[in-house]
Amino acid sequence: MVLVSKYMVPNGYLGLTIYPFIFLKKKQLKDNIYLLNHETIHLKQQLELLIIPFFVWYGIEYIFRLFQYRNQFLAYRNISFEREAYTNDSDLNYTKNRKFWSFLKYI
Ligand SMILES: [Zn+2]
Repeated sequence: MVLVSKYMVPNGYLGLTIYPFIFLKKKQLKDNIYLLNHETIHLKQQLELLIIPFFVWYGIEYIFRLFQYRNQFLAYRNISFEREAYTNDSDLNYTKNRKFWSFLKYI
């Protein structure tokens, strides 16, 4: 379910996914099919990890990447869930063909 909320989405980001919701910063972003595909990949990842463990893993990996890259943006971009989503968000069939726990290939 896609909702628009500038308060839910942190500044500097366009979308945020917390299963079963995709929050977008602005209404016009509903037309951005690649952004929606990116967030749909996160919906799948969250379901596969039964949601709460996804956020725990996401947070731990972010801290680990922060030590690795010493840069907040690079740390975020290199979380395995983000690597998978950014690598495949331009492929609109990706979520249909993607295998279970595919994010593991991006660690
Ligand atoms: Zn993302």
